[in-house]
Amino acid sequence: MKRLFIPIFSIVMLVSCGTAKAPADAATDQSSNVKGDKAFLTAYKEIKADDLKKNLYVIASDEMGGRDTGSPGQKKAGEYMVNYYKSLGISYPKALGSYYQKVPADYMKQRGGSNLPDSENILAFIEGSEKPEEIIVISGHYDHVGTQKGVVYNGADDDGSGTVAVMEIAKAFQSAKKAGKGPKRSILFLHVTGEEHGLFGSEYYTDNPVFTLANTVADLNIDMIGRDDPQNRGKQYVYVIGSEMLSSQLKVINEAANKKTNNLELNYSYDDPNDPQRLYYRSDHYNFAKNNVPVAFFFDGIHEDYHKPTDDVEKIDYKLLEKRTQLVFATAWELANMPTRIVVDKK
Ligand SMILES: [Zn+2]
Repeated sequence: MKRLFIPIFSIVMLVSCGTAKAPADAATDQSSNVKGDKAFLTAYKEIKADDLKKNLYVIASDEMGGRDTGSPGQKKAGEYMVNYYKSLGISYPKALGSYYQKVPADYMKQRGGSNLPDSENILAFIEGSEKPEEIIVISGHYDHVGTQKGVVYNGADDDGSGTVAVMEIAKAFQSAKKAGKGPKRSILFLHVTGEEHGLFGSEYYTDNPVFTLANTVADLNIDMIGRDDPQNRGKQYVYVIGSEMLSSQLKVINEAANKKTNNLELNYSYDDPNDPQRLYYRSDHYNFAKNNVPVAFFFDGIHEDYHKPTDDVEKIDYKLLEKRTQLVFATAWELANMPTRIVVDKK
């Protein structure tokens, strides 16, 4: 997630105001309570902590050098992702002609990203069976802040966790498709670059969308979902941000998806317009929201290793990462298969 430029000690004081409003009865393991049709349940079970872990140990390894925008390490992580999609038989949007959407150095320079080399968004795509022109975007940034003074900032949570979650959700949808139950609407798995320097990859995508934004139903953005923050230590929770800003339906759908899956505590405290963290503006979903596309941003909070070289794979709670990934999948499944697309009815 993009840094807010206020001193770190004041961040610690400012974020201590979150209040949770959610059921207090979340049992430790409710996986046996997961409800839904057979196709959903089969696909849902494809999302596994071990697979998330396996991919994250590659994406957030030292070999990727902290994945700074346009760096060789980031490109290497990108190659791993592309090979993963190929191995699953998941292609790219036809109109794009490859998995890569180039984000030019000049574009980033005009927005204050001086000295960044050309970089790439990575797009994988599953075409819908009934309404292929309507698109659900599931996004996460795969860049991080690189190597500084010889120390690799691995960004396991930020946003390695979102990156592997998007990959895992794609696998689940593809498995449903292979079983003849692919999504009715199309799903775009959008791995954006340049986030840490200023949300450049998502801005470039929404300035140059592969599918028209008018036909883009929603963006579910995942940026940091593998840890917990001091206010929620040990809880089964996730922050959901922005889900009722543009559509009265999205929050309702996400809550229903949560109820039929892991029943996490959904924390909306960052939806407060007066919250000093301004998280609604600080990750890639914002570029969709400003174009009137409904969004939900899934986030674990600001923890002690945020933007530190200690944001490492050993500190991820893989079971919690699995549950949060399953929630995003369940919400996307509903958005993709419901009879009519959600409406934009708020400004
Ligand atoms: Zn970040």
